[in-house]
Amino acid sequence: MMRWLTPLVVLSLLLTACSASPPATPDGRLKVVATFSVIGDFARVVGGDQIELTTLVGAGRDTHTFDPNPTDGVALARASLILENGLGFETWLDDLYASSGSRGSRIVVTKGIEPRMATAGGGAQAADPHVWHAVANAIQMIGNIRDALGKADPAHAQTYQANAEAYVAQLQELDAWVFAEVNALPEGRRKLVTTHDTFGYFAQRYGFKIVGTVLPASTEGASPSAQQVAALVEAVKAQGVPAVFAENVSSNAILQQVANEAGVKIVGSLYTDALGPPGSDGETYLKMMRRNVTTIVAALR
Ligand SMILES: [Zn+2]
Repeated sequence: MMRWLTPLVVLSLLLTACSASPPATPDGRLKVVATFSVIGDFARVVGGDQIELTTLVGAGRDTHTFDPNPTDGVALARASLILENGLGFETWLDDLYASSGSRGSRIVVTKGIEPRMATAGGGAQAADPHVWHAVANAIQMIGNIRDALGKADPAHAQTYQANAEAYVAQLQELDAWVFAEVNALPEGRRKLVTTHDTFGYFAQRYGFKIVGTVLPASTEGASPSAQQVAALVEAVKAQGVPAVFAENVSSNAILQQVANEAGVKIVGSLYTDALGPPGSDGETYLKMMRRNVTTIVAALR
């Protein structure tokens, strides 16, 4: 992963590390790194014009399998604040942080959220990182980001507070809207099958059952065996699941095979572990959630 650390890069990173950690850009803005697109969107909303934001894993890209490049190390070295999901989502971040020589404060923005346990890439039980699919968790993340920005840049704490407050009102409205949409769906139809196990918190909050997934709670690691695929096909048939859902961050080839063999539709793609590109109907967290819920309810109705 660190094959890009040429002597020149190491030297420039060391020079950066030896100077005092710059708290802000020359124009006074706080330098913030968000690890992936959902946290980047939250930081953009709360930080507004007061921060200079870099998002490492951008729209449509998979954080589980991300392979950092030299630019990502430089961004970390320059940052005062690094906003990360934690819960095992950014498996590459410890190494990247260490090799970058960064002195930025690392903030786990999911602090305070009760983790759900799930099967991880290696087959062991571990905390499920996909907290953002439940809007209540997004509200907790916004509070953590507001506090981190205000502590790092007290001069603008009131701005961050006001930005967070306005956004939380929109999130509360979104949460109520999701419940109302889902209520239109009979309980027996609230069944999800996706490529990887990303909707656990969504299912928990909005009353869905995860019938099965092609991959566990990470997209890293081996493909499922023929027996596992066959078992998923059987579960889809036995539970009368009318549709399965593709994702924007991973290959959906095996899910397509499951759909074909079970004789059901494959629908999507849902925005799962990343936002969509600018201009798309998943370009922000608010849009991503509305688009996902609309797609799910329409396909299962
Ligand atoms: Zn994931």
